[in-house]
Amino acid sequence: STFDIVKFSEEIIEEIQIVAKQNQNIIYQHTGTESKISTDANLLKNCIINLVANAIKYSGENTFIEFNTEISNNRCIITVKDNGIGIPVNEQKHLFEPFFRAHNTGSIPGTGLGLNIVDRYVKLMKGNIIFESAENKGTTFSISLNQHQT
Ligand code: ATP
Ligand code: MG
Repeated sequence: STFDIVKFSEEIIEEIQIVAKQNQNIIYQHTGTESKISTDANLLKNCIINLVANAIKYSGENTFIEFNTEISNNRCIITVKDNGIGIPVNEQKHLFEPFFRAHNTGSIPGTGLGLNIVDRYVKLMKGNIIFESAENKGTTFSISLNQHQT
C-alpha cells in the first residue's frame, strides 16, 4: 500500500514510547521533500517495532534513541540508533540467526527471534538491512527500501 511514512512513524513512536525506560527519549526525524512510500505497512511496522524495542531494551535510562526516515533518489531509508550495550564484534555474524543472543545481554530477557523475523520481513519487502555496532557504545540498524519511479 501507499502511505505517509511520517504519520506512520509518529503513530508507532506514540505506541512504543509507553515501554521506554525512565528518561529514555525516542527522537524522530524525517528528511526529504517526499513522504509517501509504497510497501507492506504491516511488515514495515513490525520491523520498526522490533528495532525500537531492542534499542529500548539494550540501552539504559537517560539515553536517547534516534529514529530517522529519509526519502531520496527513489529510496526510503529507515534508521534506528541507540547508545546502548552494543553487540560484540565476534558475535555480530550470528545476529540474524534464530535464537541468537549475544553474551553481553546478561539478565536482559529475550528469545532471540525478533531480528530473524525482521530479516525475513525485509526480504519480503525486497529491501536491505545493515547494521553497525560497537560494544558499550551503541548500535545502528538501517533498512533500505527501493521505491518505484513516480
Ligand atoms: P526477542 O525475540 O524478544 O526480540 P531478543 O531481543 O533477544 O528477543 P533479537 O531482537 O532477535 O532477540 O536480537 C538478538 C540479539 O541481538 C539480542 O539478544 C542481543 O544480544 C542483540 N541485539 C539486538 N539488538 C540490539 C541492540 N540494539 N543493542 C544491543 N544488542 C542487540
Ligand atoms: Mg528483540
